Amino acid sequence: MHWPLNSSATDSMENSNKKTGLYIHIPFCVKKCNYCAFLSFPADESPRAEYTDALINEIRMRSAGQEKIRLDTVYIGGGTPSVLDVSQLSRIIKAVRQYYDVAPEAEITLEANPGTLGKKDVVTRTKLIAYRSMGINRLSMGVQSMDNDRLHFMGRIHTPGDVARDMRLAREMGFDNINLDLIFSVPGENTEDALDDARRIIGLGPEHISCYSLQMEEGTPFYEMAERGDITEVPDEEDRETYHRICDLLKEAGYGHYEISNFALTGKRSQHNSLYWNMDDYIGCGLGASGFVYGTRYRNTADMKEYIDHYSILFDDEKCEDGGSTPYEEVHRNSPFDNISEAVFTGLRRAEGISFEDALRAYGIGYPGMDASEKFWMIFSDAETEARSYAENGFLIIDDTGLRLTEKGIDISNGIMSLFV
Ligand code: SF4
Repeated sequence: MHWPLNSSATDSMENSNKKTGLYIHIPFCVKKCNYCAFLSFPADESPRAEYTDALINEIRMRSAGQEKIRLDTVYIGGGTPSVLDVSQLSRIIKAVRQYYDVAPEAEITLEANPGTLGKKDVVTRTKLIAYRSMGINRLSMGVQSMDNDRLHFMGRIHTPGDVARDMRLAREMGFDNINLDLIFSVPGENTEDALDDARRIIGLGPEHISCYSLQMEEGTPFYEMAERGDITEVPDEEDRETYHRICDLLKEAGYGHYEISNFALTGKRSQHNSLYWNMDDYIGCGLGASGFVYGTRYRNTADMKEYIDHYSILFDDEKCEDGGSTPYEEVHRNSPFDNISEAVFTGLRRAEGISFEDALRAYGIGYPGMDASEKFWMIFSDAETEARSYAENGFLIIDDTGLRLTEKGIDISNGIMSLFV
């Protein structure tokens, strides 16, 4: 059995052309959630202002020395970008439009957490109108749960009532493309609780739902609580059962399961995240942000002082002419094998899987006189026996055109993907 795809032919074609995206990281949050290992922290007004200036310089610098880069997607994530003042966000987006060629139909997403859009309806409406006027056409909200006690336990700052209100106001203000995140396998939660959360999130009618199993990441309060024995991780078997039952529920509600953790109504897949899974180019700006451009991966420093010091100098045009290499980043030039390996690794996350043709395109070296399957297995000759054994046992589908995980293969996806690394 393969994934319960519920997508139209148009959705499948969404993946066919190379695209370019821009990711902008805003590392600020109102407070740190108990499970969070993302690069985020609370900050006052002054660091936020300084960071905005530095970020705009980086946005400018990464565009310099070449023709305006056409952007198909812009994703402002974090952290919680909606903690920025409207004026700060507006300056950032203005800079993007000034230095890049943002496609008229570009998907422009803002992560806007419930509880950060203002307590009064009039304030929230004003913020949402401002977002719309900046061209933001997709919101992604970290709902995580619709149970008040669970939200509190996770350290979230909002209530289920805040979510319902923000959704209502976002709709009123014309947002017709909204993602809601759901976390399941929270300690103390059983499968029925998680399904109840999923039903309530479906009931809010978003176009897109992302579902993640809670991970106990080192350095988080939850990790320390688990170490002390104060909380217990949900057992794997229960976690997997919950995941599959949520998948079934979402499928019944009309959401296509197009990536391991992502579900969308027809035509509403995340264009930006699809760039990552398709090995398209993306520029990353901001603290700790990473990018993949012309076959090179880079990651910015995660040290705020280093970042601000470096990017707060006002670049003049001459300094920008080098096209933007900076000592405050790690850079790795992908080899052809890195490219094909990453294409398979990320491609297997998608319901369609990865075609041999696409994998070889990422490899970039021709294969005259051989068919794509033959050439693919020549490159991955060490992995073939094990991959075929996964296929015989119903975890992987291998045919003449490519490979993809089955539903039960998702549960051991890391093991299968690691064959191709
Ligand atoms: S809002 Fe998101 S990024 Fe911020 S602390 Fe919570 S989980 Fe982390």
